[in-house]
Amino acid sequence: MKKTVLFSDITIVSSHDDVKATVMENAFCVVSDDRICYVGQSKEAALEKAESLSSGDFETYDGRNKILAPTFANAHAHTPMSIFRNIADDFALQDWLFNEIIPREDRMIADDFTYGHLLTLAEMIEGGTACAANMYDGADQITLASAEAGFRLQQTAMGKTFKDGVWSADSKNVEDFIALCNEKGKGLIKPSLLVHSVYLYPGSFYADLSELAKKYEIPVSVHISETIKENEDCLSSYGCTPVEYLDQTGLLSDTTVAAHCVHLTENDMRILSERKTWVAHNASSNMKLASGFADMVGMQKAGIRLCLGTDGASSNNNQDMFIEMRLASFMAKGKTYDPTVMCASDVFHMATRNGYLACGFEDCGIIEEGMKADIQIIDYDCPQMWPLGNPVSSLVYSCGPKCVESVMIDGRFVLYKHDLTTIDFEKVKFETKKTMERLK
Ligand SMILES: [Zn+2]
Repeated sequence: MKKTVLFSDITIVSSHDDVKATVMENAFCVVSDDRICYVGQSKEAALEKAESLSSGDFETYDGRNKILAPTFANAHAHTPMSIFRNIADDFALQDWLFNEIIPREDRMIADDFTYGHLLTLAEMIEGGTACAANMYDGADQITLASAEAGFRLQQTAMGKTFKDGVWSADSKNVEDFIALCNEKGKGLIKPSLLVHSVYLYPGSFYADLSELAKKYEIPVSVHISETIKENEDCLSSYGCTPVEYLDQTGLLSDTTVAAHCVHLTENDMRILSERKTWVAHNASSNMKLASGFADMVGMQKAGIRLCLGTDGASSNNNQDMFIEMRLASFMAKGKTYDPTVMCASDVFHMATRNGYLACGFEDCGIIEEGMKADIQIIDYDCPQMWPLGNPVSSLVYSCGPKCVESVMIDGRFVLYKHDLTTIDFEKVKFETKKTMERLK
């Protein structure tokens, strides 16, 4: 249920579009319905706003020793893959994908998508994540489960069929999915088109996918240059890099979310920058699958729009955006021998504001009046974060999911003082255990 909440005496940390992250101590924030209605340091003004919006019937949330921050938007995930967590580890990517994961995915039934997705949402919410760009089949089940859980999602439509060894574009699939998002998505679900990678479909098919995305004006979700092998195979098949090839087919735009981008040439970076394509950096997954270390600083200098993702839980093996922020920063420093690069404020911006923009939610990811109320409350009264020091550094370098006390999405508490309010975790546990036993 949405209502009016006054967060009082709290430390507010937020990114903004044109300045580094800011900190406001002894602050107040009023949320009413789905929006942030007041942010400032005047108790009187906050009380007046809360009273006028609720006719006096509002909740006061005690914010002492707490941080109020925007929730994270995970820009690259495969949510149902949490059911494959810790059952196929320490393989090379191609071996892992084609011999371990896809054969199991081929045996998934409808409920597996629903409960695998909900398991991941429970983990994401408890870790301060309120939004994700999700690349996976089972779009209908995932959409209905997300809307019910009150979670924001950019979800891929399959948009294609594979019959008798031939891929074909499927307009009806996209149309039906857009209609489902509009009718059942509660304003929380946005459709995109699944274009897995340059290596999964025949060359002639990419132009068809590009046309499909343009026809329905939906973003493209794609993996690019995740491994050296992918680049070598693309060069031998098409005589160019994956970025160049996808650009030639019209699949790179300012709404495309390109995951990984570990092995880019200078020309690739120029193209991604010019197209304003979003690059979702997946530090944990790239290291676990030994894909390499993306040149985050080079991409930043090239003006590429950067965000962060966890990738699927079977190649990570969690959905923890605190770890992704920390690793993105530490990897960049280690790779460049320069501790001043990729500072806490930079990666916080990527995990919050940029993640939301990449997922297509323009009025989220910043704590300002008029923005959607996607908020997390961090309790820093714990050994891990005490004493607070610089709150931005503390969020990026010290904080973790257990410090996340509450999460609000669209003005609704989905985690309230450590309790999930929209997901029946006991039911999710029961169903996903059954699935894992059937598919292992
Ligand atoms: Zn992926």
